[in-house]
Amino acid sequence: MKILKIDHIGIAVNSIDQSADFWSGILGLDLTGKETVNEQKVTTAFFPVGESEVELLESTAPDGPVARYIEKKGEGVQHIAFRVENIEEALIELKEKGVKLIDETPRRGAGGAKIAFLHPKATQGVLVELCERDHD
Ligand code: ZN
Repeated sequence: MKILKIDHIGIAVNSIDQSADFWSGILGLDLTGKETVNEQKVTTAFFPVGESEVELLESTAPDGPVARYIEKKGEGVQHIAFRVENIEEALIELKEKGVKLIDETPRRGAGGAKIAFLHPKATQGVLVELCERDHD
């Protein structure tokens, strides 16, 4: 399995619009894409930072995974995403190595990426996302 880079850092927020005051208004990062992923009950907003991006995540429903995360832990860093060359191969390899996975097969994420999450029990509590994209 080949990890190419940190693709993005996912941050759970109550409001993308309010948070953008800091990430864009104060830090000067550009918001390049905002998208709702209905299956995940989440709206995402991407702010490129060099080779990587900050991804803000706002829940679209009180029972969505991001809403539940904020309920338990408050706003903050929710996951780290690694860009991989081939996500199907990576998942097979991790499964063979006995790593607990949330997604055994990839699903669709924001921007048409293929994504899959590893179980935080296997990663010292860090929610790790793998993602594969056709383009930058
Ligand atoms: Zn993500």
